[in-house]
Amino acid sequence: QKKLLQSLKGKDTVTKSGKQIKLYANIGNPSDLAAVVQNDAAGIGLFRSEFLYLEASDYPTEDEQLKAYKQVAETMAGKKVIIRTLDIGADKQADYFNLEKEENPAMGYRAIRICLTREEVFKTQLRALYRASAYGNIAIMYPMITSVDEVRRIKEISKQVREELVATGVEIGEVEEGIMIETPAAAIISDLLAKEVDFFSIGTNDLTQYTLAIDRQNSKLDEFYNPHHEAILRMIKMVIDNAHKEGIWAGICGELGADTELTERFVEMGIDELSVSPACVLPIRKIVRDMD
Ligand code: PEP
Ligand code: MG
Repeated sequence: QKKLLQSLKGKDTVTKSGKQIKLYANIGNPSDLAAVVQNDAAGIGLFRSEFLYLEASDYPTEDEQLKAYKQVAETMAGKKVIIRTLDIGADKQADYFNLEKEENPAMGYRAIRICLTREEVFKTQLRALYRASAYGNIAIMYPMITSVDEVRRIKEISKQVREELVATGVEIGEVEEGIMIETPAAAIISDLLAKEVDFFSIGTNDLTQYTLAIDRQNSKLDEFYNPHHEAILRMIKMVIDNAHKEGIWAGICGELGADTELTERFVEMGIDELSVSPACVLPIRKIVRDMD
């Protein structure tokens, strides 16, 4: 079996009938890059940028971030690298953010909500990302979106950042910009959101938590946490259909994307991309290649 999987390196992730799937890997640290290359992922579908913030004792500077993003972009040598902007808050705390203790952190001040209210922190990260785009194929992804208004605010800020960089002579590559669909609100208005962005990546970990009203951190609730719930699968189908109506692609970067019991179902739904932990890349490639 192991040998068989090894033989799939360098092969396309394509069904027998010719449907190509972009099979990418999730990483949380540049040290995971070796595993991405080793398992022959076609790109990085979710690079959680939090490590930069969680490992530091103060806000990482633009240059520090640039160095990390550039390293990943260069190592992937032209393959897609989707970097998610900071998803701090809730379970991921960094002291210097001075976040107040909250009753309900998963539903609290986190991720894009911090970025839209602490614009300088957001702009520093965006500047580093756009500067890094000259060294590879970088895409930017925004987490915890719930509304069209948020996306428009993000686009206004990112446009301003790009214009400022270009005005100072910085070279910026082509950067795809997408959002995570990980709240029920985003899934339900995905027809509207699809008009605003280049791609969707479904975050099934949070989407399941918020849809089923089950804290993903609370192990007491494990028996009730069912990511195969029909509500989740219907949302995924709806998000894919709404993406395609506007001509954009849709993927899954939550844990469910690596669930081999569902791979065929996702492909039948029309999924364009799956981003999974590096060790899951070859097993998923095998399932897709065995499909008619
Ligand atoms: C998700 O919510 O599914 C996701 C991929 O993001 P994270 O697990 O980092 O919250
Ligand atoms: Mg999430």
